[in-house]
Amino acid sequence: MTKTPSVALIKGDGIGIDVAEATIEVVEAAIAATGAPALSYSEIKAGAGYFSQTGHDIEPGGEERAGEADAIFLGAIGMPSIRHDDGTEIAPHLRLRERFGLYAGVRPVKAYPNAPQRLADPQAAGIDLIILRESTEGLFYSAATHNGRGQSITEDAVSDTLMITRPTTEKLHNFAFRLAARRKEKGRGGQVTCVDKANVFASMAFFRKIFDEIAPNYPDIKSGHAYVDAMALNLIRYPWAYDVLVMENMFGDILSDLAGGLVGGMGMASCAEIGDNHGLFQPAHGSAPDIMGQDMANPLAAILSGGLMLDYLAEKTGDEAFEKAATALETAVENGFSVNRLRPMEFGGDMGTKAVTAEVISQISAL
Ligand code: ATP
Repeated sequence: MTKTPSVALIKGDGIGIDVAEATIEVVEAAIAATGAPALSYSEIKAGAGYFSQTGHDIEPGGEERAGEADAIFLGAIGMPSIRHDDGTEIAPHLRLRERFGLYAGVRPVKAYPNAPQRLADPQAAGIDLIILRESTEGLFYSAATHNGRGQSITEDAVSDTLMITRPTTEKLHNFAFRLAARRKEKGRGGQVTCVDKANVFASMAFFRKIFDEIAPNYPDIKSGHAYVDAMALNLIRYPWAYDVLVMENMFGDILSDLAGGLVGGMGMASCAEIGDNHGLFQPAHGSAPDIMGQDMANPLAAILSGGLMLDYLAEKTGDEAFEKAATALETAVENGFSVNRLRPMEFGGDMGTKAVTAEVISQISAL
């Protein structure tokens, strides 16, 4: 018998704990309904709460255990009131991104019926795209979490380095095309757009050059380019025209929030961070201390991230049953919205974390 796939579970802080628990319930329901293999869970204590009790931001050996698991699921980490002595946030998850080289940040942006829609054009109901954000270099190469490497600071000028390397960019663009191919199999667009500023920066021209080298290896997938400023405009004018958008770290940071805003709030923003051998799945929102402990958080961002995890496990283990489980989870959310039985408080509805979770599970059993 093959080994039981394992998930390292970091619930974290605030609403992270509630939405992580909700996600595991839904993932288990999707597995049971589709006959996918059982998962084993290994919980790792980490976060601001753990730090205030122990002085450590993650339990001893926790990073290693996360690395041994087949996937890592994270609720949310951080509390504004709990900081390191130098004022920086408690952020062990950012170390995991570095340690495991999680270069591919996947942020799905999808419109659901009866969920908030910011654009008046009825075609906005068809928004279904992915922002693929490189997550280890780009302009974040010089970030504080990298100890400011590539930075120059004098009294009169400060500069940060935008780093694009060939190995990471090749992996990123290949990831983008493979992702588009998988989406095409499920009836979606089959198109990758390289978003850059190749007309101004040598680093961005290099990013585009590598894209153009790789695109011909995927003849079934359409490819195109756009400058990032034009893309900001187009994402408001006709976001439904796009499928996979691949871009540098800082551009992805900005455009993923813009695109996320088109289809609801933080409670819908799912996220996967994937490297060569590891995948970390988490909602894009934080621990939201203002609503913690009140059964008010929308767990759907986390639950949809659980769907991304099942999809990842399908690819990693080669077991298609996980893909069926992922599809069941996504369809359940879609169906729940269609019949207006998913009404999260985040959108002015009457359903808290537990009620939304129970409804998704009931939609899974109804499939
Ligand atoms: P971080 O810096 O850790 O990402 P943040 O301070 O930017 O966190 P979040 O914790 O993501 O912000 O939340 C911002 C606000 O959005 C929260 O205060 C909360 O009101 C709302 N919010 C975030 N996530 C959810 C959710 N899942 N359900 C409902 N409301 C949410």
